[in-house]
Amino acid sequence: MRGLKELWQIFEERFPDTGLRKGAFAAPGRVNLIGEHTDYNDGFVLPMAIDKNITMLAQLRDDQEVRAYSLDYGREVIFSLLDLEFEKEDFWANYIKGVIDEIKKMDYYIQGMNLIFTGDIPIGSGLSSSAALEVVTAYTIASLNDLDIQPVEMALLCQRAENNFVGVNCGIMDQYISRLGKEGNALLIDCRSNEYELVPFAIEDYQVVICNSRVERGLVDSEYNQRREECEKASRYFAERLDHRVLALRDVTVEELEKEGGGLEEITYRRARHVITENNRVLMAVSALRKNDLETFGKLMTESHYSLRDDYEVSCPELDLLVELALKQKGVLGARMTGAGFGGCTVNLVHKDYIDDFIANVKKAYDQETGKDMEIYVTWPAAGARELA
Ligand code: ADP
Ligand code: MG
Repeated sequence: MRGLKELWQIFEERFPDTGLRKGAFAAPGRVNLIGEHTDYNDGFVLPMAIDKNITMLAQLRDDQEVRAYSLDYGREVIFSLLDLEFEKEDFWANYIKGVIDEIKKMDYYIQGMNLIFTGDIPIGSGLSSSAALEVVTAYTIASLNDLDIQPVEMALLCQRAENNFVGVNCGIMDQYISRLGKEGNALLIDCRSNEYELVPFAIEDYQVVICNSRVERGLVDSEYNQRREECEKASRYFAERLDHRVLALRDVTVEELEKEGGGLEEITYRRARHVITENNRVLMAVSALRKNDLETFGKLMTESHYSLRDDYEVSCPELDLLVELALKQKGVLGARMTGAGFGGCTVNLVHKDYIDDFIANVKKAYDQETGKDMEIYVTWPAAGARELA
């Protein structure tokens, strides 16, 4: 990554000084530690921000024009704040336009701006580079225009930008953690109430190691919709049988599943079992963190993987291989796939003394077996969106 000084040089070479307010901002990508496929079941997730970011430098203009330059794509897109059109070929600009659109809908007045941005979050690997781009854009605009947008409000407007303008039906997790994340903490999010809580994640001698399988997440859409339907079916089933309100699988306990779930089709039963036990695991993982019990935390991560693999069936041979290889290494407390599945990344908790061995061994075995050139990122619970000095 280029330093801030170098980025300002690039900025100044490209844009004449308008004499108006300017600043540099960053927003991180994220990894979900535990709580997979629970979000659309009104459940819990526990992501943390990673030390990979999108950095944006911007200066206000005295007109309504936006000149946005993507360093990583080497391309500039120019548009007016008054005319925000979705352009398929300007893919990244749509995230910026979408955020502006949502800010305008909130009746804020904003000025045009010149901006450049660059990032080191691997794109399309499930570490949420898109949310980072939305959040850094919103943060930049709010700061330079002095808009009083509260953190949660900002996360939600970024989610709406992705839903409404970009057209991706994402939940709240990615924007929440990118905006609200705090160094040294994971973020527990209740996807029903949108309430959240920072949970200290004192990893001490451990690091969070992310393995990118380099498998494209191809199947996701159709399989995802199918899983959602299966969950709704299970939820309706329990709503008819239990003597309390069931709006989503969030409302069903493990005991109720075991006692009343016998009438479900086998496959639907397993889908429900994943969601219900996964919600439990998130809450148990949070209490383990509160007790500084990383061993239990790691075990829950691994159990989560097995549940995603066997009950929810959203893993793939490469992710299973990565987890299997990880668990064979010294100093590993837990390993699981993270994200929607069918490719993307695994997340591992690895003792710092064994990281070099972990990287060498896992990469060698994985590359040999799959013929892919995998990537490994070593990270920790990092900071959320912020202004850079
Ligand atoms: P992810 O899992 O990384 O969020 P998405 O497909 O949701 O994958 O979002 C990736 C999109 O975000 C890219 O196609 C691009 O439009 C935008 N993006 C992410 N990082 C950058 C970057 N560094 N520069 C330009 N655009 C980016
Ligand atoms: Mg995304």
